[in-house]
Amino acid sequence: MSASSSAPTLVWFRQDLRLSDNPALTAAVARGGPVVPLYLLDDETPGSWAMGGASRWWLHHSLQSLGDDLSAKGATLILRRGKATEILPAMAEEIGAAAVLWNRCYEPWAVPRDTALKERLKASGLEIESFSASLLQEPWTVQTGAGKPYTVFSPFWRAIRDRDVPRPLAAPGEVTGGEGLASDRLEDWQLLPQRPDWASGLRESWTPGEQAAQERLTAFLEERVARYADKRNRPDIDGTSGLSPYLHWGEISPRQIWHATQHRLSADDTAGKGAWSFLSELGWRDFSYHLLFHWPSLMEETWKDNFKAFPWRENPEGLRAWCRGRTGFPIVDAGMRQLWHTGWMHNRVRMIVGSFLIKDLMVHWQEGERWFWDTLVDADAASNGASWQWVAGCGADAAPYFRIFNPMTQGEKFDPSGDYTRKWVPEVAGLPDRYLHRPWEAPDEVLAEAGVRLGETYPKPIVDHGEARQAALAAFENIKKGA
Ligand code: FAD
Repeated sequence: MSASSSAPTLVWFRQDLRLSDNPALTAAVARGGPVVPLYLLDDETPGSWAMGGASRWWLHHSLQSLGDDLSAKGATLILRRGKATEILPAMAEEIGAAAVLWNRCYEPWAVPRDTALKERLKASGLEIESFSASLLQEPWTVQTGAGKPYTVFSPFWRAIRDRDVPRPLAAPGEVTGGEGLASDRLEDWQLLPQRPDWASGLRESWTPGEQAAQERLTAFLEERVARYADKRNRPDIDGTSGLSPYLHWGEISPRQIWHATQHRLSADDTAGKGAWSFLSELGWRDFSYHLLFHWPSLMEETWKDNFKAFPWRENPEGLRAWCRGRTGFPIVDAGMRQLWHTGWMHNRVRMIVGSFLIKDLMVHWQEGERWFWDTLVDADAASNGASWQWVAGCGADAAPYFRIFNPMTQGEKFDPSGDYTRKWVPEVAGLPDRYLHRPWEAPDEVLAEAGVRLGETYPKPIVDHGEARQAALAAFENIKKGA
């Protein structure tokens, strides 16, 4: 044990709001001496990427849960608000800390801040250590044969899928520290919406926290992983894990998911196809972080240069209709309403609504990225930025721009029963399947029987998909020529 072992260790929690498989916490406990767990509401995040409303809601409940879990182990979670570069050194001094530990973040605002903080705290004589805790493989550990970052997913995945993933750490048995220190009250941070309280759908849909994350993983592996490969594209079926917000906030680690899935696989090889398909989605998450780390402007700058000349349209009415789920295209509206109500949207539908915004309305992909940032409980700099550029066709390893989703056939293929669309767009629920995804083609008597009056009870389509498609393709041809 080191000479400083009886002095406190400060553990800075960020996107790792869990006790198990938390290397910084485990290392702090192993040092001996009190462990002071700190969460900082950091005002240094750039204004335009400050946490969105749904993220704030999640964070409130996640901190409540982390605080309870720490208290059950004997420690008090300290909450402070302000710039990390000011609060962390001050707090280390206040408690007479010997060491400050944290798990690494990869956002473009976090990397330089944390590097500077490390230097500064080290200079004042503290021991500083950071850990890998949020990814399967950290971005700088994966390189092409030429020593470059990957820009294509398949070779990236081939490079990491057979690597060893460290076994997850157990939660410490006991953590003591933090009592008596000044702490903000969580309620005073006002992370929850007040007037209006729009969070009832979030409350119905989610239980944030580490325990809920583990329960969700167990249920998914027992009940759904075996059919994941076949059902993951079906929004009408509960076929995916729903772990994305827990992963974003670090209430569960990718290593825990990796090993639990491998364990399931070893017990039942009929789950193999589904399990590997599921694990490859964790690979996409790592790939998104790989891109964000190596191209820190991913959230803000179109990755492919020729797209910078794309004639995006100012279309505030179209954007508003899209945000509100009132485009007149039922599968698009279903997705946008699911998002507003629950803070989450099925991946297939994220692709459909993204394609519609970018290609049918020709609205800049960043408008969609920002709306998602504000409304998703899993809003994530890497996955959101990379995925929007993927849908637009301007990102690394993106869908080709000319692949324009047809919202009618996508609805018919992936919501064949219509259950998903009927749930979120009840105005058209009475239409027969044949017209559900294209109400404007229904004969008058069919509309009347279903109680649908287009333009009154449900919007007429805000664009003609065929014409919009041609316009988008023509714009694309022009930028290709200019490239
Ligand atoms: P599962 O299918 O169970 O997958 C397991 C995990 O793998 C997910 O929890 C997630 O962490 C990861 N994952 C799955 N698909 C992807 C993907 N395409 N890219 C990166 N990681 C993936 N995901 C976010 O976590 N945050 C975002 O802000 C986000 N924005 C998106 C925006 C658009 C336009 C699109 C098309 C996708 C976006 N995604 C985002 C990716 C994906 O839609 C969600 O991760 C997924 O729907 C979450 O549901 P799940 O947990 O049930 O996923």
